[in-house]
Parts: sequence; structure tokens; C-alpha cells
Amino acid sequence: MSRPIHSTIHYAALQHNLRLIQSKAPSAKVWAVIKANAYGHGIENVFDALRGADGFALLDLSEAEKLRALGWRGPVLLLEGVFEPRELELCSRLGLWHTVHNEEQIQMLAAHKTQQGHRIFLKLNSGMNRLGFDPTRFRSIWTRLNSMHQVEEISLMTHFARSESEIDMLQSLSIFKEATHDLNGERSLSNSGTVLGQMDLLSREGIQDDWVRPGIALYGASPEPRLKSAQEWGLQPTQSLRSKIISIQKVKFGDKVGYGSEHVVTKDMLIGVVACGYADGYPRVIGPGAQVLMHSGVRCPVFGRISMDMMTVDLNPCLEQGVAVSVGTEVTLWGQSKDGHRLAVDEVAGHAGTIGYELMCALASRVPAQSDFAGD
Ligand SMILES: *Cc1c(COP(=O)(O)O)cnc(C)c1O
Repeated sequence: MSRPIHSTIHYAALQHNLRLIQSKAPSAKVWAVIKANAYGHGIENVFDALRGADGFALLDLSEAEKLRALGWRGPVLLLEGVFEPRELELCSRLGLWHTVHNEEQIQMLAAHKTQQGHRIFLKLNSGMNRLGFDPTRFRSIWTRLNSMHQVEEISLMTHFARSESEIDMLQSLSIFKEATHDLNGERSLSNSGTVLGQMDLLSREGIQDDWVRPGIALYGASPEPRLKSAQEWGLQPTQSLRSKIISIQKVKFGDKVGYGSEHVVTKDMLIGVVACGYADGYPRVIGPGAQVLMHSGVRCPVFGRISMDMMTVDLNPCLEQGVAVSVGTEVTLWGQSKDGHRLAVDEVAGHAGTIGYELMCALASRVPAQSDFAGD
């Protein structure tokens, strides 16, 4: 038998989250963001459930090739554009739309020999100071690109640094409006946080977002968990990391558990050893308070350091609640247990000082992932 750790990708939850996003932005088209191997889900595991999106946005050409190989003929957007000239040929061949955010990319495009004009997303820096052109140069760059035969159509794009803050949003939106108000082209502004929380603000500001770009919300985690949990947004978890107990130890007062012998036992305890460690993507830095989910909704505290391939948990809550555990009992590290209880990835991430995005994306490639489309 192979190690029992695996991740299950929930088909219906992906569809539910996509529909929720579509209902928040009913007049917009949706780029389903599937960068980072669909936030650690596997592009092949989410593609079918997300086909209802209008396009897919990603970073790597290899991911774009995979998507075309899966049979997607619709729009594909490279969110960071191309990194070297020969990638433009692949854009022409695969019909990829690409972001243009720096001068070097314009020069590559100007030197690119193509019959077919490219669809580009011209990126404005609206205050995040990561990618994009300065607002004062934006119009002249648009004009220059508009006159190039390599360019068929220009859309206008920006990315918000702090979509949860109305004040920051108003500032970025006014920069965007000022720089683009007299330019033609579709607009693409909103990430998950904006789609979930700020569509009213956009419409009050008179901005129509033609192409929203949700990522994390599709995957059922919250863009800003301290503000509002995924559940409160109505999102459903799409990735469940599950493994099994592979050993049980009875320990007593004064015993120590795990590397470093830091965790000293203060009462009789049952320790469950779970086949999941930091080499699987479970955070080694997890702090006190972190729990795993057992069947029947029982939560057991993590006890002892996380090692490379294993972790240890306190099974006493199962004893106290009369829930049977043995070697082979399933443990849910995040997501949803088979009997329908939830442990939000954001909650686990919070105990490791990070966000659900990182845990899902950092799930190790050695953890097999499978869609539950054909039944769990
Ligand atoms: C990753 C990314 C998104 C999606 O962000 P979420 O917070 O996951 O919704 C949107 N736009 C761009 C440019 C991105 O790089």
C-alpha cells in the first residue's frame, strides 16, 4: 500500500464557487485564475468544473499548453506576459492573450513577426508598485501599442494592493479612471477580494469591470480571512488534504513526544501518528492551537513537532467523545472530512502565520490529487 496521504478536489464546490462569483459580478466575464497549478489543485483536476468560466488566466506557458491539450479553445491570458521573445511565437501559435507591463515586452512585441495581431492586456500601476506602467505614461504607451500592427486589441488592466480597504480602493480607482477614461478597450480589475467585497464600490465609481480575475475564491478560501471567513462568504472548500493514522502510542505523565522532546505529556494520552509531514506541505511552523479533524467532527490538537513525513496528534478528544480510532482511521488536515465536517485551510494557515493561499499552493507534488467528480 502506498502512503495514505492524498488530496481530494471537490468538483461541485468549484462549480458552486464559480457560480457565486458570477452572481457577484453578473455583467462581467470571468477569468478563472489557475496559476501555480490551479493553486495546488492540479489544472487537470479543476478544468472541467471551471469550464463555465469565460477564460483561464495563468503564468507559465507550460500551463497554457496543458490547458490547450485538455481541449480548451477559449481565451487564455498570461498574467505576467512573456519573459523572452520566442514566447511570443507560442502566443501566436496557441492564441494566448498576454499582459504587457514593461517596456521590454513592448520592444519584443515590436520585433515580433506575426500575421495575426495579438490581444494584449496593458497593465497600469495603480499604487501597488509591483507590475505595470506609471499612470503618467499610460496613455502614450497605449497610443504606441495601438499603432503597432502586432497588436489587434488592447484591454486595460490593473491589480489592487488592498481590495479590503475602501479608502485604498478609492485611491486606486481614481488613478485608474484618470489614466484610462478616454481610452478604448475592455477593463480587467478585480481579484477575489474585489469581486466578493467591492463590486458596489466599482459601480458607484462608474467603473464597469469587463473581466474579473478571481483566484482564491474559486478554491474556497478567503482573500482576507481576518475580515470574513470563506464560509461567511458562502464559499465551499475545494481541496481536502486527508491521510490516516499509521500508529497509536499510549503515553503517560512525563513522557515526551517527537523530535526535540519538547512536548511533555501531563496526563495519560493516546497519541495518533498521522502520515503527513512538512515534506507533504503541512507547515512545520504550526503553532499551539492547531487541530486536525477526525470523523464525526471531532477535532484533535496537534501535539509535538511536525516531522518530514509524520505528525502526532492528541487523540484524547476521540476517547472523551466516544469516537472510535485505530490505525487506518482517516484524518483531515484541512478541507472537508468524508462525513461532511469542515476544517478551513485558512484556520490551519492562521496557526502557521500564513494564509490559505500558501498552504494550498505549497502542497507537495508527492501528494496525489484526485477530483471527486466520479464519486468520492
Ligand atoms: C493571482 C492573481 C489574481 C487572483 O488573485 P486572488 O486573490 O487569488 O483572487 C488576479 N489577478 C492577478 C494579476 C493575479 O496575479
